[in-house]
Amino acid sequence: MNTRMLRILWAGLFLVLGFCAKEAFASEDTPGCRPERYAKEREKMVREQIQARGVKDGSVLRAMRGVARHCFVPGEYRDEAYDDHPIPIGQGQTISQPYIVALMTELLQLKPGDRVLEIGTGSGYQAAVLAGLVGRVFTVEISPALAQEAGARLKSLGYKNIRVRRGDGYLGWNEHAPFDAIIVTAAPREIPPPLLQQLKPGGRMCIPVGGRYQVQQLTLIEKGRDGSISKRAVLPVRFVPFLGEH
Ligand code: SAH
Repeated sequence: MNTRMLRILWAGLFLVLGFCAKEAFASEDTPGCRPERYAKEREKMVREQIQARGVKDGSVLRAMRGVARHCFVPGEYRDEAYDDHPIPIGQGQTISQPYIVALMTELLQLKPGDRVLEIGTGSGYQAAVLAGLVGRVFTVEISPALAQEAGARLKSLGYKNIRVRRGDGYLGWNEHAPFDAIIVTAAPREIPPPLLQQLKPGGRMCIPVGGRYQVQQLTLIEKGRDGSISKRAVLPVRFVPFLGEH
């Protein structure tokens, strides 16, 4: 073997080693989470839990297929991420059952250019589903740890149209109001008036309402063009309680 061939071989070896090192570091950034994994489980979740229960909106089904739910749950729950139940995400909180996420999203009847406010960022999963459907998502989380983690997670997964803020969602996010739609993922005893104010005429809000030990009702609110408010109870549900001073 002449020197030239040897040099080429060495160069090849370094290229391969360099590639392997890059892959190893890349997977260290998001430990154990490779968004392309669990494609079969995700498809099965959409078919058997969501479509089978009557969610029909094609854009919602597409959005649910497009978000790597396993990247939003703690490592030890990754294999359960697509199962038919909520999952703990730390700080005593949970990521909602996939069907409830899809149902609430469908109820909002979103359009591509909409601005949406979410109260209760949690893991950031619901925000990621919304981000695939609308122009901009604003999401407020009361727990500093969850707000910080969700912001970092959404950034590392490449979501660019979501803004996360730590704060009490009772007050909404006035600076970016009014919103075409509002979704609340923790249950207050009553509908916070600032959220009604920050909803655009013609807009929709989906919110579980009810005390800690009462039956909560998933409620759909519509604000008429004239500002009138109509409410409809959709389904009895069980959400974590709305926290904060109010
Ligand atoms: N939508 C989330 C799940 C939310 S669990 C997801 O997709 O993962 C409910 C979240 O609401 C919790 O993270 C809780 O800390 C938050 N929360 C409760 N009360 C709140 C309030 N007053 N303002 C903002 N967030 C609140």
